[in-house]
Amino acid sequence: VSELSELILGRIRDIPDYPQPGILFKDITPLLADAEAFKAVVDELALVHAAGADKIVGIEARGFILAAPVAYRAGAGFVPMRKKGKLPAETLEETYDLEYGSATIEMHRDALSPGDRVLIVDDVLATGGTARAAVELVRRAGAEVAGISVLMELSFLSGRDRLDGVEPRALVTV
Ligand code: 5GP
Repeated sequence: VSELSELILGRIRDIPDYPQPGILFKDITPLLADAEAFKAVVDELALVHAAGADKIVGIEARGFILAAPVAYRAGAGFVPMRKKGKLPAETLEETYDLEYGSATIEMHRDALSPGDRVLIVDDVLATGGTARAAVELVRRAGAEVAGISVLMELSFLSGRDRLDGVEPRALVTV
């Protein structure tokens, strides 16, 4: 286990029965509140994972917290993917199943250009439904998915098998 993994694993806490009974939620807020850990995570994503990317897509809401500083540090643009109804201009949308319920995410239709190399960033890869929808939106915009990076992958939910040929990268896997 690397130093970075230890830094991360020690600062993510398990919250039982959130947001529903039977779900063990990984709470990343202690990591975000720790200056050294937050910096190490952003630097790794920006300087290693985002190498060569033109745009960093962040998924609402915890994905934004990571994707925006990663974009800044990598010298790339930031593009938000949001829950339905939040983006003001014309959008592309994708509906998908969640670990709990279903959801629709949107991206501005003109946010990406054909040929853009795009890194998708989120906090947690669980069932993979969200990341798969994000891949679909990037491709529908004519851009190229350069990668999917998450802070934590929950491997027992097999999300990586649903990503349509894209290999996700996780800073830690549990
Ligand atoms: P999936 O679509 O892969 O099932 O779920 C991933 C999405 O749900 C991500 O956007 C992530 O923020 C959220 N999510 C699911 N489970 C957890 C969890 O245990 N902790 C956190 N922080 N987010 C989760």
